[in-house]
Amino acid sequence: MPLYVEKKPEVLITEDGVRTDGRKPYEMRPVRMTVGILDKADGSAFIEWGGNKILAAVFGPREVHPKHLVLPDKALVRTRYNMAPFSTPERKRPGPDRRSVELSKVIREALKPAIFVENYPGSVIDIFIEVLRSDAGTRVAGVNAASLALANAGIAMRGLVAACAVGRVGDFVVCDPNHDEDMWGDADMPMAMLMEAEEITLLQTDGPMTEEQFREALKLGRNSIRFLYEMQKEALKRPYQVVERSVRGVV
Ligand code: ADP
Repeated sequence: MPLYVEKKPEVLITEDGVRTDGRKPYEMRPVRMTVGILDKADGSAFIEWGGNKILAAVFGPREVHPKHLVLPDKALVRTRYNMAPFSTPERKRPGPDRRSVELSKVIREALKPAIFVENYPGSVIDIFIEVLRSDAGTRVAGVNAASLALANAGIAMRGLVAACAVGRVGDFVVCDPNHDEDMWGDADMPMAMLMEAEEITLLQTDGPMTEEQFREALKLGRNSIRFLYEMQKEALKRPYQVVERSVRGVV
């Protein structure tokens, strides 16, 4: 018997586009980024985004164990996305599950095009993403934090990868879906981009959209990602300092 029962809000978005948390369709939840908070890791970052609290740590380039995984001409990139048992309203069973294995893979694929893996033959770069509190959009929050942690570790990169989810609620295309919208909205579309190359490195979607809505979502996603990318650059210049945007109407 679940201890915690989710209740669907009566109205997910009003006719004039007010969402369950009071945001307008194009507004993002408040974001805070902090770089370099773990002195035992080669690189680290912490992101708070809405109710998400996510830590990323990077180790490497370092020696590969087990040895048979060595790639002679490039670095192996490993990613582990993990949700803490206390990160959800009801205790999450510790350890990997299907979802965390999938998210580890999509996050790795979102980040890898940014890394000059050929610079580090025979070594491994390990990326850990620990979700301490989850509140929808953890994969994109994880990508932003991990990208910062990689840069903080001094890994050679083509550029930073920034990420944001967009979605659809009724007739509205929305930025950064919240938990209600993630659960009961009509479509969710996490996106990541390698900004320097204007390359999309992650694009997933569930739920139907018209072609027009899809184009609008793509544009909103790109603008939102650009905004986060500017924050990332600022956070990297100021390690150990919180870089924060609470103004929501930015995109
Ligand atoms: P994302 O976090 O990238 O949006 P999902 O769409 O799979 O990934 O999950 C949406 C949200 O559902 C998560 O951010 C989290 O808040 C919640 N969630 C995921 N797994 C669990 C779980 N095991 N228990 C409770 N909530 C969960």
